[in-house]
Amino acid sequence: MTNPQIPKTAPAVFFEKANGPITFVVDHPVTQPEDLKPGEVLVRIEATGVCHTDLHSWKGDWPLESKKPLVGGHEGAGRIVAIADGTMTQFKIGDAVGIKWLADSCLNCENCRIGAEATCALAKLHGYTVDGSFQRYAVSFAKHCTPIPDGLPLEVAAPILCAGVTVWKAIKEANCMPGAWCVVSGAGGGLGHLAVQYAAAIGLRVVGIDTGADKKKLLDQYGAEGFIDYMQFESDAMINEIKRVCSGEGPHAAIITSASGSAYNQALDYLRPHGALVAVGLPPDTYIKANVFSTVVKNLRIVGSYVGNRQDAIEALDFAARGKVKPQMVCEPLKNLESVYKRMEEGAIPGRIVLRC
Ligand code: NAD
Ligand code: ZN
Repeated sequence: MTNPQIPKTAPAVFFEKANGPITFVVDHPVTQPEDLKPGEVLVRIEATGVCHTDLHSWKGDWPLESKKPLVGGHEGAGRIVAIADGTMTQFKIGDAVGIKWLADSCLNCENCRIGAEATCALAKLHGYTVDGSFQRYAVSFAKHCTPIPDGLPLEVAAPILCAGVTVWKAIKEANCMPGAWCVVSGAGGGLGHLAVQYAAAIGLRVVGIDTGADKKKLLDQYGAEGFIDYMQFESDAMINEIKRVCSGEGPHAAIITSASGSAYNQALDYLRPHGALVAVGLPPDTYIKANVFSTVVKNLRIVGSYVGNRQDAIEALDFAARGKVKPQMVCEPLKNLESVYKRMEEGAIPGRIVLRC
């Protein structure tokens, strides 16, 4: 099934080696419908968010080798323009879909069967082990594409496809009841500002940690009950301040969405007994140091939370479609990717930048 208007080349951004030049071209080859393998679809990407993961990937921060040359990007929202022959799918040409970090998995192993597809040994990752959404036409896998609800603009859907899904899943992992205190560290960033909104939407009392007046202003809009500027406090004073704001006893959960290792430092000290540290941010070479005695006697939980599954993605988009969660975003052209990385590194982006493809 094919849309006849598929060009042979189109704009894309790619890099050849970690920390190497980031190249924007207008004539990147487009996979033609007849070259798609069963199960694959070709998506005309309209908008793509830029996640800090894309920056880690370009910098080579992690111990996991990526494809090279690589077209990054994994918050892609667009429309299906071709479906490989022999593909069993509910999608048809023209459907609005999202392509996420998890591009493909077997759906047959124990991890897939329990809905933890991202930990499938055969997982393929958009913008890491296969090319992603920093291009106008991307190849994806029908069974892991996410349907985008009617009426939700594609540029609004884009940041939900990684940032939104990931924090919605992390909030579920925290396992808090309405009325519980939830601290989000990195709260003014792409993931964090959505975490604050999802947490507030399910009735949690949210306190954000980040820095700067712009981020404080952003979080005030979402009903955050406190903002703690981590640059203004020494370590012990910050622990005391977080406890004070969270009714004197500290939060029930701390969701760490910062790309900086130091955001993990005090979380186990400010959590109240039975609290959960939910690890989401992925700073390189970082360890969570837990004192065994206090972890045991406070009954603390330390939980790693890696993206979300297909159902989490549908739920996360549904919050956005109902207007309960609204990404703060600025739209820019695809060729700005390198400049976005610079600003992201400086922590100068409240919310998300979305690139138009
Ligand atoms: P971002 O750059 O948009 O936001 C990070 C925020 O953290 C910024 O607002 C920054 O000011 C703030 N910050 C920096 N140092 C801090 C500190 N010490 N304390 C509190 N806040 C601090 O990044 P993002 O796109 O939101 O991604 C955040 C992290 O999450 C990255 O490491 C990314 O790779 C990771 N991530 C993980 C998953 C997952 O599945 N676990 C999914 C997506 C992204
Ligand atoms: Zn991401």
